[in-house]
Amino acid sequence: MAISYPVFAKELTGFKQQMHELGITQNIVAIVSDKAGPKRVKRIKLEIGKLSAIMPDAIRFCFDICAQGTQLEGATLEIDEIAGLGQCQSCGEKLSLSLLAGCCQCGSREITCVAGQELNIKEMEVFD
Ligand SMILES: [Zn+2]
Repeated sequence: MAISYPVFAKELTGFKQQMHELGITQNIVAIVSDKAGPKRVKRIKLEIGKLSAIMPDAIRFCFDICAQGTQLEGATLEIDEIAGLGQCQSCGEKLSLSLLAGCCQCGSREITCVAGQELNIKEMEVFD
């Protein structure tokens, strides 16, 4: 079956990024397989922070490859993207972050990232 996937339509520099997600997906599949034991996995849900530099589309693509021949083959992959959130160390203001570098309205650049860098396996569901 021919697979056409938009990620591969991007320029070749995207290849390194793909390798990055491939490694991550292999880890996820290994962790979930381990937890599932002999049971087949029906569904998993991931949380991926928008500041994590992990592309959900690439994870989806790699998942099908990595899941082949494991308990996760055919499982549904759900991905929740978590928006970047920072907190100012000067005034405590919370602000949305689209980049890791930010500046608070009080003028401080001491922003701590409090959300958006995570990669979590949030849920997994197995067949009985
Ligand atoms: Zn501030």
